[in-house]
Amino acid sequence: MIKELHTKLVNGKITSVALTEEYFSRIESRDAEIGAYLTLMKESALVQARAVDEKIKNGEEIGMLEGIPCAIKDNICVEGVRATAGSKILDNYIAPYDATVIRRLKEAGAVIIGKTNMDEFAMGSSTENSAYQVTKNPVDITRVPGGSSGGSAAAVVADEAVFSLGTDTGGSIRQPAAFCGLVGLKPTYGRVSRYGAMAMGSSLDQIGPFGKTVEDVALVLSCIAGEDSMDATTAEGAHKPYESFLSGDIQGLRIGIPKEYFSEALDPRIKRVADEAIEKFKRLGAEIVSVSLPNSEYALPAYYIAMPAEVSSNLARFDGVKYGLRVNDNEDSIKKSNNLLETYLDTRRFGFGPEVKRRIMLGTYILSAGYYDAYYIKAQKVRSLLRHDFEKAFEQVDLIFSPTAPEVAFKIGEKTDDPLKMYLGDIYTITANLVGVPAISFPMGTLEEDGKNLPLGGHLMAKWFDEETLLCAADAFEKGFK
Ligand code: GLN
Repeated sequence: MIKELHTKLVNGKITSVALTEEYFSRIESRDAEIGAYLTLMKESALVQARAVDEKIKNGEEIGMLEGIPCAIKDNICVEGVRATAGSKILDNYIAPYDATVIRRLKEAGAVIIGKTNMDEFAMGSSTENSAYQVTKNPVDITRVPGGSSGGSAAAVVADEAVFSLGTDTGGSIRQPAAFCGLVGLKPTYGRVSRYGAMAMGSSLDQIGPFGKTVEDVALVLSCIAGEDSMDATTAEGAHKPYESFLSGDIQGLRIGIPKEYFSEALDPRIKRVADEAIEKFKRLGAEIVSVSLPNSEYALPAYYIAMPAEVSSNLARFDGVKYGLRVNDNEDSIKKSNNLLETYLDTRRFGFGPEVKRRIMLGTYILSAGYYDAYYIKAQKVRSLLRHDFEKAFEQVDLIFSPTAPEVAFKIGEKTDDPLKMYLGDIYTITANLVGVPAISFPMGTLEEDGKNLPLGGHLMAKWFDEETLLCAADAFEKGFK
């Protein structure tokens, strides 16, 4: 997709301005229904597109992403552009600087066309927790696009952007990719700078791309990956360009099937599609190996302890003083506050939605004196055990396979009253964040429901910083079974 557009741009078959306008006209006709975007950036997008066209006209060489329209999740800062993170508390917030990933996209000449809807502060799995709108799944508009990066996924599948960026703390790139039939990558913790992305769980968060093909995702990763002095957790030595590893050859690659992930609890209809995918990997020459990740059952509880603890401390900064909304400044606010404490309390009460409040309260409790050891430290210990499980499994195999989610895209409103049900959907994705390994979701088949073929995602995890093997295997699968 990106490469084809690049060739057309270089050969003068299309211009970046025409391409950008084509995407905006689709947004105009479709997005009222889909609701993928929160903010559009038409003016700056066209300025950038014109600059690319000028370069081409002058016979200058252009890069792969140059002139290509893309969308950005609304918790990633783009200088001078509104960044709400899906929250009322940042309704009037204009980002004062570019996130590192945005700086890199801009340097590469990509055309940023807008900011996409998301669950408030990335907390959720359906994009229904946005304070602004519910994004619909373009595959079936009665269903959710997944979350929390649902707007970024919907934009790409509805052809309202060529590629997009999301963030993934527990599956927020991979699960929407699975629900929308796209490819979504969560890089290794430390592969991509988090500078300028609004923190949710700082030890879990990563930025990553959505695309229609594995190659597109690899091309975007090559642009955004690498060390950054603004994020001390980034690592040096990104294996760029990632697209050069897409040989289609996975002969002899060892793919692990964790027995804990294929238990009785897995929906047999999904298991059947996953088993077929395993057969396909075999036919492509991979060796399938049964492995065990014995501490898997503790992953979900450990995530829902560690994550809210970090949320509670990260979101303390939204106090009505430093950023965004201040209730006693706001005409629409519930009342005027009389002192500083009331301002804090009223701003947070008015500015945050119910899911964010739930997690802040849980996290604050978890971190409180006397409970810190019992909960937070315990969760950190579980993370060490899980890491150990993975180290052992990766002595035997190169990759670990499972479905991305235990379900297809569910109906809008189906789980809004039951947070626990929503959390259980994260079962296959959160472990990659807890241990830090890279993971990808790619289309592995479909499941028929209500007469519609709904996409199912296959999920691969690789060793720390081995994005190349991950991308190579997903690409071989995609190419082998188009
Ligand atoms: N669904 C998960 C949650 O609600 C993951 C969110 C994310 O990755 N940002 O926490």
